[in-house]
Amino acid sequence: MIEAVFPIDLRSDTVTEPDEEMRRAMAAAEVADDVLGHDPTMLALEERVAALLGVEAALWVPSGSMGNLIALTLHLSRGDRFLASPGAHVLDAELGTAAWIAGGMPHALDLTPASIRSSAGGETPYYGLRTTLLCLENTHNASGGTVTPPDEHASLVAAAADVGLRVHLDGARLWNASVALDVPPAALTVGCDTVQVCLSKGLGAPVGSVVAGSSSFVTEARRVRKMLGGGVRQGGVLAAAGLVALDRIPSLALDHDHARALAEGLRSLGWDVAEPATNIVLASVPDLAVTLHGLEHLGVLASPMAGKVRFVTHRDVDASDVKEVLRRIGEVS
Ligand SMILES: *Cc1c(COP(=O)(O)O)cnc(C)c1O
Repeated sequence: MIEAVFPIDLRSDTVTEPDEEMRRAMAAAEVADDVLGHDPTMLALEERVAALLGVEAALWVPSGSMGNLIALTLHLSRGDRFLASPGAHVLDAELGTAAWIAGGMPHALDLTPASIRSSAGGETPYYGLRTTLLCLENTHNASGGTVTPPDEHASLVAAAADVGLRVHLDGARLWNASVALDVPPAALTVGCDTVQVCLSKGLGAPVGSVVAGSSSFVTEARRVRKMLGGGVRQGGVLAAAGLVALDRIPSLALDHDHARALAEGLRSLGWDVAEPATNIVLASVPDLAVTLHGLEHLGVLASPMAGKVRFVTHRDVDASDVKEVLRRIGEVS
């Protein structure tokens, strides 16, 4: 008898699908035209996220990429240089929009207080580049979901302040960092001018991110969102999913447990795997394409990231799925 191999999808936490509870909330959402005025459910979501992040105001956006782009567009003048760590989403995964639309000159840099201080500020000749913005990312996707704890974060933003840089935080998975560190999300936004957070990753909303900062930033952000085609009408249907998603922040701890179990299991099968800090497991393999193809054949879906195999745990896989992944890989190892 041939057993059908059901695929276990660990490509990303974006594959999570809205469940019954979320769909019910979406169906029942109170709505209004958010371009002409304010949709009440979107407003409720925005206020809740602003409070969670410890900032004045927030704006729902269709994607994290748009949230980052809006922030960069408002922070950067044409030709301004911005700093971001190698592999940052704003550098490698947003199709160059930081340059193409926001007008920024990207500079990849291993971010430390010293490297930030020496890359900006000081006397530059009139023909020198002007560096105006630091982009942080927490958790850091390409590094394997690594977390920046509050003290390290504080030293980076202090260095940025010393040399007159603004700070944007790409917090697509800030919720994961907050759960892993057991600190409130607001403890990880201190000193940032703007923050972007995703609702559509581990929290399971089908669509949506939020970009946040001062009230005056959000007023301008609303205009840029409209320019980019991101003004939505009865967006409350989507924001309702976001409100349910926010209730699920604590459950990200389970994804982290599953990632640790997966890493441990892979290691015991002889894989070269870094210890995950959150829900992302990176494995170094001799031939990435061959390994990904082999995994797919086993019904284990993973993705390439920074030259490694990336497995992402999420709310649509449980401990038994992780066991099954290890069983399938173990059979061929
Ligand atoms: C996913 C992600 C984004 C953007 O999210 P989209 O909603 O897919 O545009 C931004 N930054 C990081 C680090 C991400 O992982």
